[in-house]
Amino acid sequence: MAQVTDRPPAPRPVRIHDTLRGGVVPLVPRVSPRVGMFVCGLTPYKPSHLGHGRTFVFFDVAARFLRQQGYRVFYLQNVTDLDDKTLAQAREERTSYFDVSERNFSEYVRDMERLGVRSVNLYARCTDYVPEILAQIQELVTKGLAYPGPTGDVYYEVGRFPAFGALSRQRMEEVRPGARVEVDPHKRAPEDFVIWKGGNPDEPAWPSPYGPGRPGWHIEDTAITVSVLGARYEIHGGGAELKFPHHEAEIALAEGATGLTPLAQIWMHAGLLNMRGEKMSKSLGNVVGLGETLREQPADRVRFFLLSGLYRSPLEFAGEESFAEAGRGLERLRVPYDRLRVLRADAENAGADHRRALGTSSQEASGRAVEAIRGALAEDFNVRQAVAEMFAWGREVNGLLQGGESFTAGDLDLLLEPFRFADESLGFLELSEQVAPSFAPPPEISALVDLALKARESARRRGDFGEADRIREELSSAGFRLEDTPQGPRWKRKEGR
Ligand SMILES: [Zn+2]
Repeated sequence: MAQVTDRPPAPRPVRIHDTLRGGVVPLVPRVSPRVGMFVCGLTPYKPSHLGHGRTFVFFDVAARFLRQQGYRVFYLQNVTDLDDKTLAQAREERTSYFDVSERNFSEYVRDMERLGVRSVNLYARCTDYVPEILAQIQELVTKGLAYPGPTGDVYYEVGRFPAFGALSRQRMEEVRPGARVEVDPHKRAPEDFVIWKGGNPDEPAWPSPYGPGRPGWHIEDTAITVSVLGARYEIHGGGAELKFPHHEAEIALAEGATGLTPLAQIWMHAGLLNMRGEKMSKSLGNVVGLGETLREQPADRVRFFLLSGLYRSPLEFAGEESFAEAGRGLERLRVPYDRLRVLRADAENAGADHRRALGTSSQEASGRAVEAIRGALAEDFNVRQAVAEMFAWGREVNGLLQGGESFTAGDLDLLLEPFRFADESLGFLELSEQVAPSFAPPPEISALVDLALKARESARRRGDFGEADRIREELSSAGFRLEDTPQGPRWKRKEGR
């Protein structure tokens, strides 16, 4: 008799590169299968760019895959809705910091939705956590790790936290700002950093024991994570450029305040997106806007491009050519995938008649392909390898379908499984129905395609699948890609038409 249990099944093993330990380590949740995952989010003082897209699309894949493997992931992202840059931008636009950050943040959320990023459980704004931030500052002051200065600022005393520098592998002498940097005379040491900024009457301010002020950098992340995920959690992620000083500061603040270590079991860092060999960044000014890219390119291509390469390495963006190459890669997957889906929809309508049975070797091959994709993603999220396995499976499917024979719905599901399994995490095939506005055809063409679709539907209803397929092929050679969805057939124009 099956045993009744309320315990979820054990999650599958996953290994991840940890920057702090400098190697790939197994993920071992403190309370399995729960995984707390925090990723440093956006400072929405300007619209987001393609570099943000790379970081956040990658962590979306990481969260989705962990969930797929049976982990119960709580994915938290902060939003730095107030800082020096936001205030400067608001002054420039003659508006409020709130207007600047809310506008850019909503645009970011829209872009993320279009890119299929749907794994974040909570976007936590800095200014919603001021009480938590002040409580953590109080804790640090009480423990002698932070001290208030005479002008309403509160500083973290880096020298009191000996492990500072471990993540970026630097010694204390190396993290000290150079002689060129003008040092605040109220600091006890030049490397100390401000965790509460007081004293400026022109800036938004909250009351505090140190006088009115606002949160400094670094501390919002630790106040938010400790209050939402607890003093210790499994995964901390962010762009590689945040390793120092930001992530060092997070460790010093959180471990200093709570006395519990390690703050995060695994520190993940995503590589930069480069353009002509240089980091894409708002401060360098060589940015390609995310919103503007998504108005010009189909979202599936953008997602596919952002996921190319290995997440820890830099990725070079070569403009239009990068998306064209992504389009070619996607097409290689779509041909077998869409073909299977059409056959699958037809099999549903036709019922199980005299159809060819899939051989045992193909059934086994489908299982092997799923395991190969799983294996690639379970070893530090090797998306490149997973996509290579999808290509290999696509070639196998193309070969099988060449004979023009039909398969049962169950067999077609088996053939679809490697694509479906991979896409549950990678998520670019599911974006197929999104069409960039510039690809939308004029209404008279839409009317003609709809007419052809009606003819195809009636052919299918009569059981004339040869005719239905022929109409589909003709539409395809005229430049229209057809997809059968549970809501009925949909179509879109192929690229360049
Ligand atoms: Zn952060």
